[in-house]
Amino acid sequence: MDLNLAGKTALITGSSDGIGLAVAKGLAAEGVRVLINGRHTEKVEAAIADIGDAAAPAVGDVASVEGLDAVLGAVEAAGGVDILINNAGTGSNETIMEAPDEKWQQYWDLHVMAAVRLARGVVPYMEARGGGVVLNNASICAVQPLWYEPIYNVTKAALMMFSRTLATELVGRNIRVNCINPGLVQTPDWVNTAKELTRDTGGDWQGYLQGVADEYAPIKRFSSPEELADFFVFLCSDRASYSIGSTYFVDGGMKLTV
Ligand code: NDP
Repeated sequence: MDLNLAGKTALITGSSDGIGLAVAKGLAAEGVRVLINGRHTEKVEAAIADIGDAAAPAVGDVASVEGLDAVLGAVEAAGGVDILINNAGTGSNETIMEAPDEKWQQYWDLHVMAAVRLARGVVPYMEARGGGVVLNNASICAVQPLWYEPIYNVTKAALMMFSRTLATELVGRNIRVNCINPGLVQTPDWVNTAKELTRDTGGDWQGYLQGVADEYAPIKRFSSPEELADFFVFLCSDRASYSIGSTYFVDGGMKLTV
């Protein structure tokens, strides 16, 4: 299937590692110029070296206005984008009774306001090009929460609704907006957590991850970042031209409701 993506430009937030990096590689393989984002220049440069000529830097913290200014500066330098993927994000660990307001605000800025502010920043470029695509990476936890990360669950649910609402606002401008809710994806984030949690008990981090997969995913394994990335790449293409305002679960059967 020809995805007809060659010649497009994409900004993928949080693409120096994990899912975002796999999506950037997947798009680059289809001939898309990719702007690589992360807070740390060295990691962004390493990702660019890995991807090759199709990649350019867009360093900045998307949870801050200043960081976003820098990222939008890179977008401008690239002459605009056709595709925006709001992927930067991270898990949390707290109770509602104990977490301070500041922590809620921090995650609201990262998971929601980054997407709001980037939409305002890049949609004019997309309009000038005659259309575009916005994909938001939320999480299965937006609808099926795990107990230990209420702030993550709530802010990812908000991102899902933002996605649905933005889709309505932009459909008339030929900009398609969708959301993807992944289940378990084996990224450095999960591997580091597993290594940390098993450090004092023999270090069987693979066994720990298998236990998580056995408990939560009927398919009994994590997804690789690459197999999730393929779904993102397809949704970016005109082959998904009738997909608007939806949330797609890529979760190995983890979501238990219809
Ligand atoms: P990783 O921690 O592996 O990678 C996160 C990437 O985002 C890195 O490139 C990191 O670079 C960057 N990043 C983090 N914070 C910021 C920030 N404030 N501004 C700019 N870049 C940032 O994460 P994953 O690949 O696992 O997750 C990616 C997304 O997928 C997240 O939104 C996550 O919630 C979602 N998700 C992940 C699942 C999983 O199982 N892994 C399941 C469901 C959803 P740096 O630290 O240098 O800034």
